[in-house]
Amino acid sequence: MTKKYDVVVIGSGPAGYVAAIRCAQLGMKTACVEKWHNDKNEPVYGGTCLNVGCIPSKALLDSSHKYAEAQKDFEVHGISLQKLSIDVPAMIERKAKIVGQLTGGVKQLFSANKIDGIQGTGKLLSGNKVEVTAEDGKKSELEGEHVILASGSVPIEIPPTPTDGETIVDSTGALEFQSVPKRLGVIGAGVIGLELGSVWARLGSEVTVLEAMDEFLPAVDKQIAKESEKILRKQGLDIRLGAKVTGSKVSKGKNKTVKVTYEDKDGDQEMTFDKLIVAVGRRPVTEGLLSDDSGVELDDRGFIKVDDTCATKVKNVWAAGDVVRGPMLAHKGMEEGVMVADRIAGKKTQVNYDLVPFVIYTHPEIAWVGKTEQELKEEGVEFNIGTFPFAVNGRALAANDKDGMVKMVVDAKSDRILGCHIVGPSAADLVQQVAIAMEFSSSAEDLGLTMFSHPTLSEAVHEAALAANGHAIHAVNRKKR
Ligand code: FAD
Ligand code: NAD
Repeated sequence: MTKKYDVVVIGSGPAGYVAAIRCAQLGMKTACVEKWHNDKNEPVYGGTCLNVGCIPSKALLDSSHKYAEAQKDFEVHGISLQKLSIDVPAMIERKAKIVGQLTGGVKQLFSANKIDGIQGTGKLLSGNKVEVTAEDGKKSELEGEHVILASGSVPIEIPPTPTDGETIVDSTGALEFQSVPKRLGVIGAGVIGLELGSVWARLGSEVTVLEAMDEFLPAVDKQIAKESEKILRKQGLDIRLGAKVTGSKVSKGKNKTVKVTYEDKDGDQEMTFDKLIVAVGRRPVTEGLLSDDSGVELDDRGFIKVDDTCATKVKNVWAAGDVVRGPMLAHKGMEEGVMVADRIAGKKTQVNYDLVPFVIYTHPEIAWVGKTEQELKEEGVEFNIGTFPFAVNGRALAANDKDGMVKMVVDAKSDRILGCHIVGPSAADLVQQVAIAMEFSSSAEDLGLTMFSHPTLSEAVHEAALAANGHAIHAVNRKKR
């Protein structure tokens, strides 16, 4: 018998679970199908983000940061420790508890909102029907007035370094090491490579990052990328650019190692590691998701084709999150989930794709929103720049956390803020302040006239906004462009 719903969501990651909750809040009878399960074959909600992504990686980043601070930074504050040690399994266990708490939280929210959570793999059939195959192979059928596809993404594998879950791992495996690898190789100097490379480097691994591109973080504002590279290298990350990995060989025996070969401008190279993390990007999940006659189209990179409102070509079928175009970020997926639910309910909600904030959670953090200096140059827009270094921010000095800077790019004619780029302490939270200002079309002068608490890191944002018009107080102003 086919069970009928107003909305059937496939996938319970940030895009899917948020869409389901919003649909239920708006009065729609909602089901969410999720294939992730525990050992009792009950669905586990939260997708990549809560289970093996944003949250567990940040738990380990925070633990390892505390260890690195205790090891390298306490002395300057006059604090000495007799003996410092790490219990890696305890660190991993703490991470698992946080994951359990948050995935359980989604379960509670589903129950409070009367959402039917259904364990199984969902497949869209024609006519807005969804076939569900449970872990035990049993099939059932649901029908939604609307269907939302939110099947997310998985790590990309590359032929020279096939993962074995032990010596060569993807991001999921890198969250589960039970001891600190002495020599850690990372393929890809992207977000995951830098975040997870940092975790293990702080705990004592010698980390080498092999990046195929010649440029470090090419999507980031050039000045901020250069500053970030300098800081991360100073922390001990051995970042090798222009390194094209050609092969790998895992040794036999108990303490396995992996020999990695790569080519760079100097020719063929070889390195041996105790563990290797492959972090070369993620791909959308659509295998088995769509029947041949579902009518939903994929683009040439395998993403589900949608318009600006996340509607597919098929009436009442929507798709959101990592499985559609745009950056693979939890917050982008969540906003799309809300938009889709609102649109089903007849509201005109839109996502402002021009103001997606990006963060790399290294220490210091690297964060940005809006246009980079290089993009504005390419577009021929005239702009002013305001910068302010944390080295002269009172709060950063008090905390002994003074690496980095804030950079604001501002329209030369209208003074409207066009972008903000930060490497520095709490950059994620600081950029968010500017994202709000930009959402309200703020000028640099507006931000300059706003009172900021003293002493705060956010005063660096204030000063960068003032600096864009040559009015910084606590730094010598560059000539106004
Ligand atoms: P997913 O979270 O991938 O969820 C999709 C869900 O659908 C999964 O639960 C899957 O089991 C289920 N599913 C798939 N197919 C089916 C099917 N046929 N039937 C039933 N269920 C199905 N982003 C940030 O914004 N900030 C961060 O700090 C951050 N850190 C990250 C760290 C790591 C290590 C990784 C790997 C990713 C990180 N991300 C981060 C990215 C973020 O996790 C993703 O952008 C986000 O999870 C995407 O959400 P989603 O709902 O589209 O898909
Ligand atoms: P990424 O796209 O950020 O970086 C991958 C890097 O690998 C790139 O620099 C690329 O040039 C390099 N690369 C690709 N193939 C290579 C090869 N054969 N040899 C060497 N280098 C190679 O991808 P990621 O770091 O895997 O992250 C995947 C996605 O997850 C990202 O899109 C990101 O948005 C999301 N994510 C976000 C956060 C965050 O928001 N803080 C954290 C983790 C992941």
